[in-house]
Order: sequence, then C-alpha cells, then structure tokens
Amino acid sequence: MEVMNGHKKWGFQGNPELIASSISVRGVLTKLMANRNKDDKRPTIPLGRADPTEFPSYRTTPVAPDAVADATYSYNFNCYPPTVGIAEARRAVAEYVSKDFPYQLSPDDVYLTAGCTQAIEIVVSVLARPNANILFPRPGYPQYEARASCSKLEARHFDLIPEKGWEVDLDSVEALADENTVAMVIINPSNPCGNVFTYQHLKEIAETASKLGIFVISDEVYGHLAFGSNPFVPMGVFGSTVPVLTLGSIAKRWIVPGWRLGWIVTSDPNGIFHQSGFVECMKNFLDITTDPPTNMQGALTQILKHTKEDFYSKILTTIRGAADILYDRIQEIPCLTCPHKPDGSMVAMSFFFPFLVTGEAKSTTT
Ligand SMILES: *Cc1c(COP(=O)(O)O)cnc(C)c1O
Repeated sequence: MEVMNGHKKWGFQGNPELIASSISVRGVLTKLMANRNKDDKRPTIPLGRADPTEFPSYRTTPVAPDAVADATYSYNFNCYPPTVGIAEARRAVAEYVSKDFPYQLSPDDVYLTAGCTQAIEIVVSVLARPNANILFPRPGYPQYEARASCSKLEARHFDLIPEKGWEVDLDSVEALADENTVAMVIINPSNPCGNVFTYQHLKEIAETASKLGIFVISDEVYGHLAFGSNPFVPMGVFGSTVPVLTLGSIAKRWIVPGWRLGWIVTSDPNGIFHQSGFVECMKNFLDITTDPPTNMQGALTQILKHTKEDFYSKILTTIRGAADILYDRIQEIPCLTCPHKPDGSMVAMSFFFPFLVTGEAKSTTT
C-alpha cells in the first residue's frame, strides 16, 4: 500500500467485470432515472422492468399472504433451512412442476432459491469451468450475460427468429457449439420476445441439445402465463431426451417479485445430473450461498396447492388485454414495429425503425 501525504492510498482495483456500467437492466434503468430532468413534471410510464405490482390491476391472490401468515405464526419456520430447501416445499414444487410430465419428479430434484435470479446465479456459477462456453438466446435476458461474465464463462449467442414467432435458429446453435459448450438457455414463455414455444419446437430443441451433448436450462419464470394459441409446455417433458434444468419462481405468476422465492429443478429421469457430478457441485455452491427465508419456504406448499383457478385466469385475461392494447398502439406509431403479437409472459418485443438495419431492438413491458 502506497503512503501519500501521510495517508495510505487505498489501492482498490475492483472486479473489472463489475466496472462495466451497462452490466444489467437494473443498472441502466437506475442511471436513466437518476438523469431525468427534475423540473419536468410529466409522469413517467414504467416500461423498463417487468414489475407488474406498479399497477393496481395486478394483485396477488389472498391465498399467498394468508399462507405466509400461517407459516410465520406456526413458529415452525424460524430455523435456518437446509441449504437445498425444506422437504415439504421441495415436494410441493416437484408436484407442481411435473404435473404434466410423462414421469414423476422427486422432492430431491428440487433446490429452493432466492427467486429465479439466484437460480440463474447458481447454475451459471456451477457450470463455469475454465475455457467452457454457454449458449444464450438473442434477444435474451441480460442477467445471464452479466452472471456469465462475472464467472468468466464465455457467452455465445444463437438467434431467435422474429419471422418464425421467435423460434430458436437451431442451425446457429449447432454452428456455435463445440466440445467446450456446457449448456444452452431458453426462456419460455419468453422475456423479452413475448412468445410461447410449441411442443414440436421444444422437442427439436431437446433433440439438437442431445445431439450436441449439452444441457438445456429452461427459464420458466413465466410458466403458465400463456394467453395465445400455443399452450405452455414445460421443457422437462423432454427430460428423457436431454437433461433439463428448469428454473422458476413465484415472482411472476403470483405477482410477488419482492418475495424472493424460486427454484432449480433437475428434470432428468436418466439421472445424468447425478452421474456427471453436477448435483454434487451445485450442493457445494448451495452450502456457500444464502437461502430463501424459511417462512416463505413454509408458505410455498399452500401457495402452490390452494391458489384458485379463477385467480390464474383473471391474471391471464388482464395480461392478454394489456398485450392487445400495446400491440394495437404500436401499429399506430410510425417508427415502431412489433413482429410478433405477444402470446405469453408479460413483455412484448418491438423494433425501433432507425436501428432496424443494425438489428438493435428494445423491449417494452406490457
Ligand atoms: C423476472 C425474471 C427473472 C427473475 O425472477 P425473480 O424470481 O424475480 O428473481 C428471471 N428470468 C427472467 C426471464 C425474468 O423475466
């Protein structure tokens, strides 16, 4: 440490990966909001982050706060939880996620996380060995890139094709993958594209990944939020073809993004995640990271089991209505175009014409 004028000069250098100013959506948005003209009194329409709680029509079911109150007042959930999550909650997630699977998940296939954000952090960190690379969708969710760069895992990008309802360009996946590719990520229903993959397309993704010998990470944080003609099909349905890591959380479907409860599920009836050492490696990571609060874990069983069908359908109707309005209004704005009317998640992808030639795009929250 250098000594200057009698003071020690702090030699802080920092992690160079964290010095890049545009590392995340949150970072860019915070900067944008901080630089607003304070004298401009016009209201700001929040389009930057998919947080529906800003709007009163998106409110969770009373089942959810009741479940948290019951869990808290039971005094049974005040302990440190097991690092993989408490058994009852793992069982509830296994049943919830594999309802439409051709096989049954076990509670041991489930690992509870502090939201889907921590699920991303965990799987990317566990997969990041030296010289490895991972395939991400473009357009995608920037949290993946940020996590990969912090873990020094090389990110490669395959394209989603707007003219084909944002399907994966499987030829570009095959062209990008090599012997150091560890996994590919899909987001279904999609953020930022707002589409829902068909059963047939998911099957083709599974077959391609299997041929390449890479895991599939399926971000299903918007699972079941499908309001168009394609029903939501969980990728785990193809777990016999290729090992699938299903990521999810209660943030979006239950509209409680602040509650920080999510999961990683190994959808893999052939047990490849165990045999390959992935599970052991992930458990070691879970031992050094934080756990979601135990009272939230205690509430999860009631939330997953007792939420009523009319809550789910009311939310879908509200999102569909918002998507229709957004899509129609975009048609009226000369410099914007939306290549695919959203049929899932809570976002729509539109292009801003002046940048169309360079392929730059922006996403808009419905
Ligand atoms: C919102 C979102 C997440 C993060 O989910 P949390 O449970 O709030 O951490 C992850 N992936 C995608 C694609 C998202 O839109």
